[in-house]
Amino acid sequence: MVKKKEKTISYVDKIKAELQALKEKKKNIDQKNKLKKYPKNETRIKKAEIQKLDKAKTKKKEAQEKEKKKAKEAQEKEKKKAKEAKEAKEKEKKKAKEAKEKEKKKAKEAKEKEKKKSKEAKEKEKKKSKEAKEKAERTLEEELEEQLSPQEIEGFQIEKVNMEKLTNKVCVILAEKESTGMIQSELWKKLKLSSRDGSRLALKLERMGTITREKILEKGRWTYKLIIKKTPISTESIVNAPCLTCPVEQKCSLDGEVSPRTCQWIEDWVTIEIKKPKMAQ
Ligand code: SF4
Repeated sequence: MVKKKEKTISYVDKIKAELQALKEKKKNIDQKNKLKKYPKNETRIKKAEIQKLDKAKTKKKEAQEKEKKKAKEAQEKEKKKAKEAKEAKEKEKKKAKEAKEKEKKKAKEAKEKEKKKSKEAKEKEKKKSKEAKEKAERTLEEELEEQLSPQEIEGFQIEKVNMEKLTNKVCVILAEKESTGMIQSELWKKLKLSSRDGSRLALKLERMGTITREKILEKGRWTYKLIIKKTPISTESIVNAPCLTCPVEQKCSLDGEVSPRTCQWIEDWVTIEIKKPKMAQ
């Protein structure tokens, strides 16, 4: 029985092996038939391969172009960056130049300002010095001339003083000094006048045309030298004339026996008078 079973199994295995062989054979035959049945399949495969290759090629090309484009873009980017850097550098340079010029301009302006300031200070100092000098040179008479009106100067009177007599005295004294004149302080001292009264009198006499004043520096002080110009007409000039008390005045005439031409009294009087200052006409 066992033997029979073993024989059956062997038989089944044999059949299985044959069946497998047949399957293999069929597969090969089918494959051959398939090739025979579809002759264009190979072309199609080749075409697909070509397409695949083309596709790969295209892809490669695209990749290359993409890479190229990328490189170009990178280059352009780099170029742009370099350009921007250059522009920034130039901008910085320009900015530095402008700042330098601005600084230079500022320094120049400051220098000019300082110069102007110095000049102004110098001029101010000069003006101040001039004013101080003018102030130092300023006399009482100049101040009076500013303070008083022409009427006040010309109408000057000293209380309880005969101004005509005083004027004649001034003229007599100055006439003795002739053109050399006399320093006013000495004259006021001689006439016992205060400086203020003397100064006002000098201004009056100058306005009247009797004297001239010459500003001089005397012992570090500015004052005036008074010089006679003309003496005023005065009744005093004929007070001592001998004719006024002459006993023979009735007989006296130019062509008579008694005449001023031959009169000793008149000659003596004239001699005395001639030594005095000339009388104004
Ligand atoms: S000039 Fe001689 S004389 Fe004649 S009135 Fe005079 S003082 Fe007399």
